[in-house]
Amino acid sequence: MIPLSETLSQGRELVVEIERRSGQKVADCYQCGTCSSTCAAADAFDYPPHVFMRLLQLGVVDRALTSTTGQLCYDCMTCSSRCPISIDVADVIETTKNIADEQGIRESERGLRLFRNLFLKNVRRHGRLHEASLLAWFNLKSGKLTNDMSLVPLILHRKKVRIIQPRIKNRAQVRRIFQRAKERPKW
Ligand code: SF4
Ligand code: SF4
Repeated sequence: MIPLSETLSQGRELVVEIERRSGQKVADCYQCGTCSSTCAAADAFDYPPHVFMRLLQLGVVDRALTSTTGQLCYDCMTCSSRCPISIDVADVIETTKNIADEQGIRESERGLRLFRNLFLKNVRRHGRLHEASLLAWFNLKSGKLTNDMSLVPLILHRKKVRIIQPRIKNRAQVRRIFQRAKERPKW
């Protein structure tokens, strides 16, 4: 439940900015919920995509800016492709997330973004996830070199993570998938 008192005009300026940058009109969303029902990550968000849109419609931008939706959304664009009125929901979320970053909001959650970027780079490079190098890079880039290191002997003992991992046959194909996703036009 969102208290009506939160729907103040102070958020309106930011909503206009989000609309300008994304080229989307959040007021057009009629809350059908299709975006949320097709989003594989919606359960992990504090606000699923259609609720995220509703927050912006109401001008409750501070909740959108601090939500985990922007951090955990992995830009698969399924929501955008399924929206019956072609709202690019993913772009609205991404734009809001960028504004939050510019404003220095969610400092404590930067690790999520770092992890996501390193995860995608790792899959692109190895053709599939190479967990050992992901953990190493994450610790290095986050400046927390000893993070979770006490678990390493146990993880190795139980063979949960391999230091040397067999290569997949066609890594170039995976790279082409990444390239095509990058070149894909927005809806
Ligand atoms: S699918 Fe489109 S119209 Fe429906 S709730 Fe999501 S953004 Fe709004
Ligand atoms: S782009 Fe983000 S919000 Fe949209 S379906 Fe994918 S993970 Fe969900």
